[in-house]
Amino acid sequence: MGHILANVGNHGVRIGRIAGIRITLDWTWFFIATLAVGSITSAFAAAGTGFLLALLGGLLVAGGFFGSILAHELGHALTARRFGIRTESIALHVFGGVARLMGEPRTPRQELLISAAGPAVSLALAGGFWLLALALPAGLTIGLNVVVATFSNLAYANLVLGLFNLLPGFPLDGGRILRAWLWSRKRSYSEGTRIAAKVGEGVGLGLMCLAAGLLFMTGAFGSSLMLGAIGFVVRQAARAEGLRVGSRVYARPSGHEPGGGGESRGGTARVVRLPDGRIVIVHDI
Ligand SMILES: [Zn+2]
Repeated sequence: MGHILANVGNHGVRIGRIAGIRITLDWTWFFIATLAVGSITSAFAAAGTGFLLALLGGLLVAGGFFGSILAHELGHALTARRFGIRTESIALHVFGGVARLMGEPRTPRQELLISAAGPAVSLALAGGFWLLALALPAGLTIGLNVVVATFSNLAYANLVLGLFNLLPGFPLDGGRILRAWLWSRKRSYSEGTRIAAKVGEGVGLGLMCLAAGLLFMTGAFGSSLMLGAIGFVVRQAARAEGLRVGSRVYARPSGHEPGGGGESRGGTARVVRLPDGRIVIVHDI
């Protein structure tokens, strides 16, 4: 969900450009899209809707949901653009979507605003779909019922998308929001990342335990597997992010660290500005 996998393959089907940003569908997307349309269609059919109308409902909900994920990613991408960071592409995949940004935020404030923009779009969409579902009179015709059910499903899906992405684990938006806060408090990008990565590892482990509990209590295999897989990915990504800044020598563009070049933390790491302007963090592990 959200932009969970930063390293899902680049091999996707290009479907066009929005605001100059290439939009692609990862091959895993077709799998989850088929599954989504199938399960929503059968839910509508089980509620007594005729097959064609049920299929239309399935396509509307699934299409609306993938459109909502796209809007979430565009929220990140267009906010990043305000800070001069281009987005190479937005890809939809089995876990949701990912916006591939061509640069990193240079200040905690930029990181906070870029990360929060996605969940803000999702929560706003949840409110909008909820109001639409309330505004339409239900119970008049079966067709209208399908439309109302579509809107309330999309309201719920966007609410889950917005809240889930606020969990404080890399590479979820909440992990980046936590890092932005720690980065600003500690005045150190690497220290903020290190702590946020530890929290993220815990969140990933927690999600895997939750998935095991859900499977044991309800026997819901599909959703438990999905939750467990997301927990695993969060744990791995958090660990990778921690290792990235914890490696002995790590270079990135200058200006990234607040007070760039001047930082030195007793005994564990020091920051050196190279003649070419790059900042190198030397860790003593
Ligand atoms: Zn996001």
